[in-house]
Amino acid sequence: MTTTVPQSLSRHSPELALIREQIRRLMARFDASYFRKIDEDRVFPDEFFRAMAEQGYFRTLLPDEFEGTDAGPAVASVLIEEVNRCGGDASSLNAQMTICQALLHNGTETQKATYLSAIGSGEVRCLCVAATEPDGGADMRALKSTARRAGDDWVLNAQKVFISFAEHTRLLLLLANTDDGPTVFLLDKSEHGASIELQPVQMVANRLTTMLFIDELRVPDSARLGQVGQGLRVLMKSFARRRIFAAAESIGNARFLLDISLTHAKTRVTFDRVIGSNQGVQYPLAQAYARVEAADLMRWDAISELEAGRDAGTRSAMAKLLASEASWETARAAMTTFGGWALSSEMHVERKVRESMVFVFNNMLWSYLAEEGLDLPKAF
Ligand SMILES: Cc1cc2nc3c(=O)[nH]c(=O)nc-3n(C[C@H](O)[C@H](O)[C@H](O)COP(=O)(O)OP(=O)(O)OC[C@H]3O[C@@H](n4cnc5c(N)ncnc54)[C@H](O)[C@@H]3O)c2cc1C
Repeated sequence: MTTTVPQSLSRHSPELALIREQIRRLMARFDASYFRKIDEDRVFPDEFFRAMAEQGYFRTLLPDEFEGTDAGPAVASVLIEEVNRCGGDASSLNAQMTICQALLHNGTETQKATYLSAIGSGEVRCLCVAATEPDGGADMRALKSTARRAGDDWVLNAQKVFISFAEHTRLLLLLANTDDGPTVFLLDKSEHGASIELQPVQMVANRLTTMLFIDELRVPDSARLGQVGQGLRVLMKSFARRRIFAAAESIGNARFLLDISLTHAKTRVTFDRVIGSNQGVQYPLAQAYARVEAADLMRWDAISELEAGRDAGTRSAMAKLLASEASWETARAAMTTFGGWALSSEMHVERKVRESMVFVFNNMLWSYLAEEGLDLPKAF
């Protein structure tokens, strides 16, 4: 990254404005049409990913010890937001910056020394968490994938579903049950890839998604990430950050949709006047605008909690909930504004509607907020 930034940044700081500017310039090469093609072809955005690596953006959340810039969550959230606001899809950037946090906070010295600098440079892709299973879904108590002790080794058997980027990552974090509870294993596909079977799932969004099968894969204990039985804690430790970055994705999506909707509303003429002069077009856009701005304030509030070293659990949950719903509302407003053109891929609305949809499965998070924020009884 060409800009050196301090840890704590106000949302109006010149440093963040500069980073937004850098991303916008870069995204001229990876505009909405580039990402439309990526989406249509269901391929990984290799060129975009390489450009992010060259800029050093994957180093944003890594400390100096691993050649990171330690630029902090404010910078990471702005990078993500701006990619989406330019019509791109920041999911690979988001994954590469954040999934390795589990390794940073729970890895052994050898695991960290082996991988973290190479993740920061983009040489090694760490894009994938394999937790969800076909039967259990959101219920992690129903985990059926197993890790069985075999001398000093473990034998893994797993069946997972909805696993993002599994075909395109080198490292993946696998959650499996041991006799002492859920445990995470760090699998390197360059060693174990032949024993990991992947079957693509046809999705309307988040298209690089697979089922994953492992049958009797023997791995050394050095592949374990964190303590035995502490797997959920290993994965959940960075949840506050991940919710803030999910909020940033939604805010970027919403602002992109709002930008193109406003241009359309101000230029498309029917009944001898621009459609934006009709209240039926104006009000949904004004409502979406207000909702996105409110969600954005909650995003910055959650970031300031994180930067102050406080538990950002409930604030980050609110940021993710409000931002994802604001983005979904903006998608509806964009559809009203574009009419039939909303369904044409040429206009980029339909893709962003689908990409906004990815973030609105919120029930578990509402439950978390009810319990943690309002002290209501546990739902499950
Ligand atoms: C775009 C996308 C990407 C994903 N990427 C990954 C990934 O990379 N790795 C991974 O491991 N998983 C991934 N997932 C899986 C995701 O974590 C699961 O979809 C989620 O855990 C829910 O499981 P399910 O879809 O089987 O729904 P189910 O568990 O079957 O639930 C169905 C619906 O019922 C609701 N519900 C269930 N129980 C309750 C309850 N007690 N109270 C209220 N509501 C309830 C759920 O919220 C959901 O809306 C991804 C999912 C999506 C959509």
